[in-house]
Amino acid sequence: MADKKITIGESIIAKIAQKEGTPFNIYDGDAIVGFAKRFYKAFSWAPEFINYFAVKALPNINILRLLKGVGMGGDCSSLPELRLCETAGILGSNIMFSSNDTPDEEFAKACELDAIVNFDDITHIEAARKACPSFPKKVSFRYNPGKDRTGNALIGNPVEAKYGVTKEQICDCYRIAKENGAEHFHIHTMVASNCLKEDEIVETARMLFTLVGKIRRETGIVIEGVDLGGGIGIPYKPEDKEMDIESIGSRIHALYDEMIVASGLAPLKIAFECGRCITGPFGYLVSKVRHVTHKYKDYVGLDACMADLMRPGLYGAYHHITVLGKAGLPLDHVYDVTGSLCENNDKFAIDRPLPVVAKGDILVIHDTGAHGTAMGFNYNGKLRHAEYLVLDGHVRCIRRDETYDDYVATQLFEPQVVDLK
Ligand SMILES: *Cc1c(COP(=O)(O)O)cnc(C)c1O
Repeated sequence: MADKKITIGESIIAKIAQKEGTPFNIYDGDAIVGFAKRFYKAFSWAPEFINYFAVKALPNINILRLLKGVGMGGDCSSLPELRLCETAGILGSNIMFSSNDTPDEEFAKACELDAIVNFDDITHIEAARKACPSFPKKVSFRYNPGKDRTGNALIGNPVEAKYGVTKEQICDCYRIAKENGAEHFHIHTMVASNCLKEDEIVETARMLFTLVGKIRRETGIVIEGVDLGGGIGIPYKPEDKEMDIESIGSRIHALYDEMIVASGLAPLKIAFECGRCITGPFGYLVSKVRHVTHKYKDYVGLDACMADLMRPGLYGAYHHITVLGKAGLPLDHVYDVTGSLCENNDKFAIDRPLPVVAKGDILVIHDTGAHGTAMGFNYNGKLRHAEYLVLDGHVRCIRRDETYDDYVATQLFEPQVVDLK
């Protein structure tokens, strides 16, 4: 099997491990910026192109600042995510607020930041009208195509999905939003997750371009922008092929000319809200081997655990593993690579061929820049670990290790009697 490249120098990783300790996540900021520029170039034909980075993928203010620097906005779905964007200086139309089952205070915060409010349901129009001092001027609706589209394992079948408004509701949604005072209209969908099929992304554009025409005909409302959602996949496995972003850009460009320009619907802004492909391939979880044990199977026990990366335990997802300094050795041993949780799902890999592994070896787990540390939790008293950013020849700590004091801060006080009167 082909190996996967580590884009950060192995000596840098080893040095941080030695000086600051393990485990940690490290992100290649130069590579993140490089990919972001390619993505924007592929869509440079599109009016006011923007990617609203899905904050949930890597909710770190320093990363948001870095992405803001290359023109990205933020896709938020909670109050803390809205506040992260605010702190990073991402405001107004650079925020797409794509929530579901939304609390009133989140509608209010999104209005305060003058974000585009992307409604998940027709009843949320009324909820936002009550929650915001004045109805949001910039609105969007999340479209669920139902049986017109089939899903995949990660995202599910649209008919079963809790998200979005139906084909029958969509025109009424815009009419009602307009009656309430909305002035700028966008449309959104999210029908792919970790998609490696170019056709599916292009078909999503076709689906929304068609709807833009239908909404114009049936309501007279001008849709200013389409948001094609996230879901552009990344090659987790060495044999997976990277998505050809340039080809996706030029195929959507051709559709735009054919369906939007030719029908007099231009200009129409194009947006994505990708998270995974922006930071995922450029992050690594670095962990040290604590114990190598031989039971009915052979185990490599790491100082990281599922709290640092739960995709393998949660979805059975593949994450490639490199043993630092052993690139030349044959993969002639088979291990389960585990963490230390009292939970047998706490495995980074099952039956993985690796070179012979010894106590003290440094393992680098690939593609952890999105949905990695972000999904971390504190089960078993496991604390979350530091994050480093490599940029312009420097390494910076952009999140410190969580401490015991952080962990107990929500309970270390004298319990007060709750006043039930
Ligand atoms: C998760 C999510 C995204 C980002 O998906 P990626 O797979 O990280 O690109 C974008 N929009 C919404 C609404 C999401 O839920």
